[in-house]
Amino acid sequence: MDLIFYNGRVITIDHQQREARAVAIRADQIAAVGGNDQVLALKNDRTKMIDLAGRTLLPGFNDSHMHLISYASTAEKVDLRHCTSIDQIGSAVKNFIREKGIKSEQWVVGWGWDQALFQDQRLPNRDDLDRVTSGQPLALMRTCCHILSVNSAALKKAGIDRHPCSVEGGNIVTDARGVPTGVLEEKAMVLVMDLFAPLDKDKLKELIRSAAGDFLSAGLTSVQTDDLTALGGDLAPELIDAYRELESTGELPLRVNMQALLPAKDELQSFLARGYRTGQGSGYFKIGPLKLLTDGSIGGRTALVSAPYEGYPENCGIEILSRREVKELVDLAHSCDMQVAVHAIGDAAVSMVLDIYDEAERRYPRSDPRFRVIHASMVSPSILDRFKKQAVIADIQPLFTPSDFILVDRHLGPQRAAWVYRWKDFIQRGIRLAGGSDCPVENYEPLEGIHAAVTRQDKNGNPPGGWFPDQCLALDEALYIYTMGSACCTYEENIKGSITAGKLADLVVLSEDITTTEPAKIKDIEVDMTIVGGNIAYSSSEMKNNPGEK
Ligand SMILES: [Zn+2]
Repeated sequence: MDLIFYNGRVITIDHQQREARAVAIRADQIAAVGGNDQVLALKNDRTKMIDLAGRTLLPGFNDSHMHLISYASTAEKVDLRHCTSIDQIGSAVKNFIREKGIKSEQWVVGWGWDQALFQDQRLPNRDDLDRVTSGQPLALMRTCCHILSVNSAALKKAGIDRHPCSVEGGNIVTDARGVPTGVLEEKAMVLVMDLFAPLDKDKLKELIRSAAGDFLSAGLTSVQTDDLTALGGDLAPELIDAYRELESTGELPLRVNMQALLPAKDELQSFLARGYRTGQGSGYFKIGPLKLLTDGSIGGRTALVSAPYEGYPENCGIEILSRREVKELVDLAHSCDMQVAVHAIGDAAVSMVLDIYDEAERRYPRSDPRFRVIHASMVSPSILDRFKKQAVIADIQPLFTPSDFILVDRHLGPQRAAWVYRWKDFIQRGIRLAGGSDCPVENYEPLEGIHAAVTRQDKNGNPPGGWFPDQCLALDEALYIYTMGSACCTYEENIKGSITAGKLADLVVLSEDITTTEPAKIKDIEVDMTIVGGNIAYSSSEMKNNPGEK
């Protein structure tokens, strides 16, 4: 045996043997799971022994939907996540320009503002941003990544400072005189984002390496990431090469499944013509599903809803792709053996996607297609019944609950708010769920997501008692969605997702026994060690000094 963990609280997520005390690893696989005596009998002269001293050992966490490159590049953007006013945004931008010495002709890009934190709840517009810097182009993304606020210089560079064009699947917001306000919604953002400096392969590799280090320290051993058009433009060949080259040089320390955002028929056709299909790849890098976006976010009032937003009788959100476009792309992918995962948040978007999946499956029946709806935020009881009937997987983000509940209540009203983030209803109906973060929209740390799933509260305990507490998940349900639930999404439940002999040795050690931790304190548990394919890929300083390690 190469490695043995013993004296632990081993939560296997395997219903055949739910708990154990020790695990033995040979090469990159789990060789044995059981009691201390049983597993310690497998020790030999070269076995590395790790005494867990009561710590929890779990299957490594698997994030079912995130944006790795966007996350890694946030370090090069102004961090606006904690701004509580438009004035604070201005100060943060000015400090950033000064500290980084950004020249006056260069783009300044920021990310993370949320008007829910402002007293007046107003979106920043071009006049606000012109007061910060008028000549230098400035583009500031809302936390949801579905709205971009820009100044006049940025509008001018994009050629839309006076005369907006109409954008299919997006909107250049204008004032009463028809002049752009500087607020760009959905696909209109691309007019500006395409002007940012493109990333080359070396830069992509640097971003992947840095993000991987952060993710390992949070216990993630697999991530499913949607990056192809993260920064505007078609990154597909460079990005796939970057991942593959890192894997071949042993520099990709965790497993990556790439969700391929290909929203135009010619892009999808050329991707398929190059031979790419779901599941192709190797141990550390695989092609995932076709990813599409149908709508925006509830916070930005761009999610597609079946009745108007409260106080906005004209606004039912934005259809990023039309029903016809989504149908054409889903049919093409599905008929070519590509899995499909579509972002849908509003009830109208979710139900449109379920219709399209149903039609695709009737036209091109396939065994086990595992259609996915990413987010599946707003679901009426009849929509939930359709998930079950059609065996569609919902990719959920438990951290959306504490981040969004104030705006959900305000933008949808109390009756429809009760249809949002119905995680427990999904589980009770036997619908498959997978857990993710949508990082950088939310923090990537799975323990924070598990905390939110179990408490439906933010880190400060708000709202008291949790938002719709009947929808809180039990701890074992929350752990399942971030491990087996996510493994099922990529057809990898036979090699990942549980601590079972014969599966990959992808594991995480937590600083304490999570089953006895008070729910409110789950977010404070530390990750002490992350093991990928039998290699210790991350160790906390606490664990490095562990006297039990031999
Ligand atoms: Zn996303």
